[in-house]
Amino acid sequence: TGIYHSLVHLSEQNKIPTQPNLDTATFVLSQFPPPEHAEKLVALIDSATNHRLTYAQLRRSISTLAAGLYHGLGLRKGDVVLILSPNSLLYSTICLAVLSIGGVITTANPLNTEMEIAKQVSDSGAKLAVSSPEEMHKVCPTGVPVLLTSRGTDDSQLSVEELIEECEPLEIPGVKPTQSDVAAILYSSGTTGTSKGVVLTHANFISVITLLKWSVDVSKAHDDVFLCFIPLFHIYGLVFFGLGLFCSGTTTVLMQRFDFRAMLEAIHNHKVSNIPAVPPVILGLVKYNGGGYNLSSLRRVGSGAAPLSKEVADAFRVKFPWVELRPGYGLTESCGAATFFVSNQEAKARPGSSARLVPCFTAKVVDFETGLALPPNREGELWLKSPTVMKEYLGNAEATAATFDSDGWLKTGDLCYFDDEGYIYIVDRIKELIKHNGYQVAPAELEAILTGHPQILDAAVIPAEDEAAGQIPIAYVVRAAGSELTEDQIIQFVANQVAPYKKIRRVSFMSGIPRSAAGKILRRELVLQSKQQMHSK
Ligand code: AMP
Repeated sequence: TGIYHSLVHLSEQNKIPTQPNLDTATFVLSQFPPPEHAEKLVALIDSATNHRLTYAQLRRSISTLAAGLYHGLGLRKGDVVLILSPNSLLYSTICLAVLSIGGVITTANPLNTEMEIAKQVSDSGAKLAVSSPEEMHKVCPTGVPVLLTSRGTDDSQLSVEELIEECEPLEIPGVKPTQSDVAAILYSSGTTGTSKGVVLTHANFISVITLLKWSVDVSKAHDDVFLCFIPLFHIYGLVFFGLGLFCSGTTTVLMQRFDFRAMLEAIHNHKVSNIPAVPPVILGLVKYNGGGYNLSSLRRVGSGAAPLSKEVADAFRVKFPWVELRPGYGLTESCGAATFFVSNQEAKARPGSSARLVPCFTAKVVDFETGLALPPNREGELWLKSPTVMKEYLGNAEATAATFDSDGWLKTGDLCYFDDEGYIYIVDRIKELIKHNGYQVAPAELEAILTGHPQILDAAVIPAEDEAAGQIPIAYVVRAAGSELTEDQIIQFVANQVAPYKKIRRVSFMSGIPRSAAGKILRRELVLQSKQQMHSK
């Protein structure tokens, strides 16, 4: 029939809870270790300071912060809270406290510029921002009240730390959120255009967390030590470490941000066994040449957020034969992972595959021309259905309609095929999206900035392959007559307005951008052209 179902099923005790009156925080807290263990069991360790938070402390800080937000700051159900912070021990507390009173979280990359933050605040309608002291200056101009994550130099500014210390875990009288309520608005450019708010409900999170718990159980990771350097603002980090992993009672060593040496040190010092990683980190490990760190504790390394090449995966397996490498695939719109390897054997036996559908997922591979569902071994666009798939793009009916078909299938914009055994191979990305170190870069956003330059008539931004970062954004530019604008000036012009990972790395000049009759940029043509240019160099 051309429809692929998950071949794995959840056991009775792992079923996704269906009671309507359940919210993410209540669900996660109900899965915490029992009180007799919670006082001792460490949930989080800060890799830089060695500061630790037990499950019992985490539970208390969530309820006191929730009370502080509700009674002290007047936060109510449906209010959107922007979280602008690198990874920190308090990140999960903030998310779960906001969610427990029905607030909606919208997370931002701390590297984003003031302009990018202003856009997100305005689009999401944020009523409050929780910001690290270092990033506060980017939110202040928006006029939204700011709560600092930790005490800054400015005493007058209230912090999460203070609220937790000073508040009592009072009852919250408001109406509790339900599964169908909105829980988060994360930003993704989807298949086309600029960043859009991906609306995720409590039901989406409760489902994905149940699936994560199942996958961790399958891996028998109860005594694992996890390492988190993937960003908590991205769906991968948020679901895994921000919310979900607490359901399995394991310990996570948390790094503020990624740093290769610090990662090695953390593995060595804390005997880390399990790292959900991204392809550039796996490449880094492949190229790593000793240095006195003991990595023998490693048991499992995941890979997500971008394609992992077969060559890098093979080299990793040769160099670290004792480590299971398990690539997976997912997207913000599906609230995280859609595929997962149940065992190391199956991953090893299928190099280049991104595993099989996780339970509760259904997929279709659709032919672009005919719109028909394709049988195994035929390439087409991946469409998905699952209880984790987003509700919609915020305030953007047009993009929502273009992303879902009339039967509710989510169009991923990824080109793939399934083999006869249900393993998926992601072949290419047909959507515009560029992925730099796993971070999203939306060409449309950079094109708007470029064409905003008085001497630029037209522009197109496309990805170029890059060994270390996966892809880099490069631009084709049509200059106004007589303009002598240089490549460096253009690169600088864009760099001044965007987060560093979105920077344009190369510029080529042309007399006209190839466009379809309808005016759409013919990106494929430009990608081909740039590959030819690279080869002829
Ligand atoms: P994001 O919403 O930022 O998680 O980006 C999702 C996109 O990243 C997907 O639609 C893919 O294009 C890409 N991606 C994620 N995981 C993989 C993977 N294992 N292989 C290839 N592409 C991936």
